[in-house]
Amino acid sequence: MSRFFNRRFRELEAYVPGEQPQDKKYIKLNTNEMPYPPSPSVLKAINDESSSLNLYPDPSAAKLKAKLAEMYGVKSENVFLSNGSDEILSFAFMSFFDNGVSFADITYGFYKVYADLYGVNANIIPLNDDFTIDPEQYFGSANVVIANPNAPTGLVLLREEIESIIKSVSGLVLVDEAYADFGEVTCSDLVEKYDNLIVMGTYSKSRAMAGARLGFAIADKQIIDDLEKIKFSTNPYNINRLTMIAGIAALEDKNYYDECIEKIKTDRKFTTDELRKLGFEAADSNTNFVFARNPRMAGQTVYEELKKRGILVRHFSQKRIRDYVRITIGTHEQMQTLINELKNILEEA
Ligand SMILES: *Cc1c(COP(=O)(O)O)cnc(C)c1O
Repeated sequence: MSRFFNRRFRELEAYVPGEQPQDKKYIKLNTNEMPYPPSPSVLKAINDESSSLNLYPDPSAAKLKAKLAEMYGVKSENVFLSNGSDEILSFAFMSFFDNGVSFADITYGFYKVYADLYGVNANIIPLNDDFTIDPEQYFGSANVVIANPNAPTGLVLLREEIESIIKSVSGLVLVDEAYADFGEVTCSDLVEKYDNLIVMGTYSKSRAMAGARLGFAIADKQIIDDLEKIKFSTNPYNINRLTMIAGIAALEDKNYYDECIEKIKTDRKFTTDELRKLGFEAADSNTNFVFARNPRMAGQTVYEELKKRGILVRHFSQKRIRDYVRITIGTHEQMQTLINELKNILEEA
């Protein structure tokens, strides 16, 4: 740390993203990326657009907003776009949570980081013993951020449960739907009904574009206007040209993504079943990952042994979940390799 760093940041603990090793080729099951490439039409659109990179992108991102609005059955004025949905979280914590915000003890790690960065008071609510969320514990909170489905547990709250929280909270409820496309539940259509709801989505998981950095929020126009004000006060061109054009093309090839999602769901079932046969405990997941523990082996050991064998999964050191590993669903072949290696590891232990 330099002696120039502002005092308020000296204690800040930054978010630690999952490993992106550049040294050797791993089977990457650690950051919930899609194992399949973006659709061919996305690749073509990017290629066609690349000769315009000398020009700034449209700062209002009108075309992409209109497409997303159409898809979610809202108006363009209800859509905000960002450089990854992490940026929406950043703007929301910066803009809305003066009265504090409630979120779970086991959830997306960035919520705590942004609370600390922006001096927001975090009311951290423990999950139940079975890692489910008890909606009633959020009733009457000043503001709420909730990942639905939750990460890294993969468990989901029903719409009615989310709605009961929205009704009880006078401030905002931000629902982070990074994994919603892999499950059955979305609250995006509730935005019409509640002016204190933000639903957030990302292209990083179900749309195979983690590397392009594109996230979006759907909310009441006044909330969107606030987010736009922050964006135009920090980085007006937050969506670059290639990402913008890719984002539009992806929405036009829904079939491709539906097929990818179906493959993930099939292999999620395969992986969960096989893990259970090996003695792992794993709840049914609503996401593109499985959260599992083996009573015979520490989470850290599973992680290390897999890494030695060229497979990366995610392990968290937080006390409540350190027995677990989070395994992203890759291709069928990758999951078969994972299961084979786990078999070997458990036999040798
Ligand atoms: C991956 C993820 C995000 C961030 O996604 P980006 O759009 O890549 O910034 C947000 N929330 C949760 C719960 C995630 O898992």
